[in-house]
Amino acid sequence: MEEKIESLKKMINESNNIVFFGGAGVSTESGIPDFRSKDGLYNQKYKYPPEEILSHTFFMRETEEFYKFYKEKMNSLKYEPNITHKKLAELENEGKLKAVITQNIDGLHQKAGSKNVLELHGSVLRNYCMKCNKFYNAEYVFESEGIPKCNCGGIIKPDVVLYEEGLNQEILNNSIRAIYNADLMIVAGTSLTVYPASGLINYFRGENLVLINRDSTSFDNMANLVINESLGNVFSKI
Ligand code: ZN
Repeated sequence: MEEKIESLKKMINESNNIVFFGGAGVSTESGIPDFRSKDGLYNQKYKYPPEEILSHTFFMRETEEFYKFYKEKMNSLKYEPNITHKKLAELENEGKLKAVITQNIDGLHQKAGSKNVLELHGSVLRNYCMKCNKFYNAEYVFESEGIPKCNCGGIIKPDVVLYEEGLNQEILNNSIRAIYNADLMIVAGTSLTVYPASGLINYFRGENLVLINRDSTSFDNMANLVINESLGNVFSKI
C-alpha cells in the first residue's frame, strides 16, 4: 500500500496534465449514498423503484411524486466535500490537474473549490423552467412546496440526466478532449460498468492510468497502477 502511494505521488509530481474521472465512491465518503451499491439508494423500499422514479417518463407523468423522492433523497446541499474533493481542488489550483470528470450530480467538487468540473450526469445545482428557461438554484428547488414552479407558471426541472435522456454532447466532447490530452488519468470510486465511463477511458493515450477503487474492475489489466483502498485513505496521503 505505502509503495503504491509513493508511485502515485511520483506520477502526480511528474505530471502537468492530470485528468480525474470519478464515480459514486468519491461522494460516499461524504455520506451520500451510492446509487447502485447493496445498501444504496436503488435497494431501498419505495412505492416505485428509484430507477423508475428517476426516469424522464416518470418526471413528466408523476411530477409531484418525482419531487417527493428527489427532495428527500437527492438533496446534497447538507453534505460537505471530503478530503478527495479538497485534494483535487488543490491540484487544479497548482495547475497540475486540468479537469474533473464526474458521474455525480451533487456539486461537491465545486463546493471544494474545483473550477473545471465536467458533470456527465448533470447537477442538482442547476434547474431550469421548462417554459421560459429561467435558471433556479438548488435551494429554491429543495425548499419549495410540492412541485417547484417558475414566476411564469412553468414547471422547473433539475438539470440532471434522467433515465431515457441523452448525455449533454458538449460535456461529453470536452471530457473526451481532456482525457485524450492528459498524461495522467486517475479513475476513482467507480466500477466502470456504467455508460459512458467504460467508453471514455479508451480515449486515454497518456503515460499513466491509475485506478483507485475498493474492488477490482475489468479495467485493472489496462492500468499502470491499481489501488484497492478507500479514496480517503489514498488522498489523505498525497
Ligand atoms: Zn418560467
